Amino acid sequence: MSKPSIPLEEIAAQVAACHYCPLGDTRTNPVVGVGNPHARVLFIGEAPGKNEDLQGEPFVGAAGKYLNELLALAGLTREEIYIANVLKCRPPSNRNPQPEEIEQCAPFLREQTRTINPEYIVTMGNFATHFILKTEIGITRLHGVLKQTGKFKVFPVYHPAAAIYDRSKRTALEEDFKHLGVLLGTRRVEGARGVDDARGVEDARKGEGALAGATACGAVRDAACAAVHDVVRDAACAAEASPSVGSQADGKVQ
Ligand code: URA
Repeated sequence: MSKPSIPLEEIAAQVAACHYCPLGDTRTNPVVGVGNPHARVLFIGEAPGKNEDLQGEPFVGAAGKYLNELLALAGLTREEIYIANVLKCRPPSNRNPQPEEIEQCAPFLREQTRTINPEYIVTMGNFATHFILKTEIGITRLHGVLKQTGKFKVFPVYHPAAAIYDRSKRTALEEDFKHLGVLLGTRRVEGARGVDDARGVEDARKGEGALAGATACGAVRDAACAAVHDVVRDAACAAEASPSVGSQADGKVQ
């Protein structure tokens, strides 16, 4: 029998009390996560930046603004997704997360994943992708290709912050979000002969092969994506198979 999940409020309280690593002493606010607790899609970033640290919410700065635009390309809104980070506290001067910090913080994200139980996980950037897929392969090779880890479909993309000033990454990221919308069946393609419609169908062909079909002015539906994508089944499921995913009997995240 699977163990009960920990309510998100309880995870948040545990993060707020956490001083396992020094970031707990230097943060202004912990940034636990925000969004729909029953989200079909969990988005995972790296760590809070300055604005996130001040406001206690993920992706509220420049990267967040851009993320909103990307979500719109996929036909998604913030209200229907959940956003969390690998680290819950800001690394000073926005330096990279350190391996010990990731290890100390990991149980919180694992428990969030177990509780939300999304169908899809979108990993933004190398840190989130490496954490979830347990790989060292770079995001440049992994982005835009659907993977399966345990029961989750994982869709790695470039980090929005990395793409803001890099045109080639930006193009790739925007295409990946459109593709995500196709996979989810949320991307609306207006007009039977419009450019977007043609793109939507093209995305669908690229992604689905045996696509159920694109309606003239509707969402392009996901059809058996797991069967036609580069699906990997070896990586331990972040919330299921990994023995380090879990909680103590008292519900304390470990
Ligand atoms: N970048 C991240 O990875 N996370 C945030 O919350 C903000 C910027």
